[in-house]
Amino acid sequence: MFHTSKNGLPLNKAVLVLNMNYAPLMICTAKRAICLKYLEKVDIVETYQEEVHSPSVTEKLPSIVKLKDFVHYNSMDVVLSRKNIMLRDKHTCQYCGFKSSSLTIDHIIPRERGGLDHWDNLVAACQNCNIKKGNRSPEEINMSLIRLPRKPNRIHYFQQFINHDQAAWRPYLFLESF
Ligand SMILES: [Zn+2]
Repeated sequence: MFHTSKNGLPLNKAVLVLNMNYAPLMICTAKRAICLKYLEKVDIVETYQEEVHSPSVTEKLPSIVKLKDFVHYNSMDVVLSRKNIMLRDKHTCQYCGFKSSSLTIDHIIPRERGGLDHWDNLVAACQNCNIKKGNRSPEEINMSLIRLPRKPNRIHYFQQFINHDQAAWRPYLFLESF
């Protein structure tokens, strides 16, 4: 996984990969999408304004591609990982709102007290809040969460990659009608 960057290299731009039935499947780099196209695995659905040049061809960068074959992949779950918790919580401490790229993960109900490694028990927290909270539940120390943590689904996850360049993605992520 990678992050979109306005100043990033064009070949690193995010491409939305759709299943054969147009269901959103994953996000890959433009470079990977172009490889898939040459392997005849995908069709280009939408392109960006930017072009890529090779000695023989100039073509527009793909923005959305669709698999030629149906992939049986029915899970809309997002893998529970540190990185995905940070993405869900937008790199923002869920107690004080401090934004940073170096936050810690807090167990709302501490592990030692039976708190599980689940989406609804894990949040991004700054070091100060994590230390202040220690081995207690938020209620015990009068700390409250900015928002209740939920298990994200893939659609929400993909939606976070959209900025002004990805307007074409919106209908495929159910943000507007076709
Ligand atoms: Zn904090």
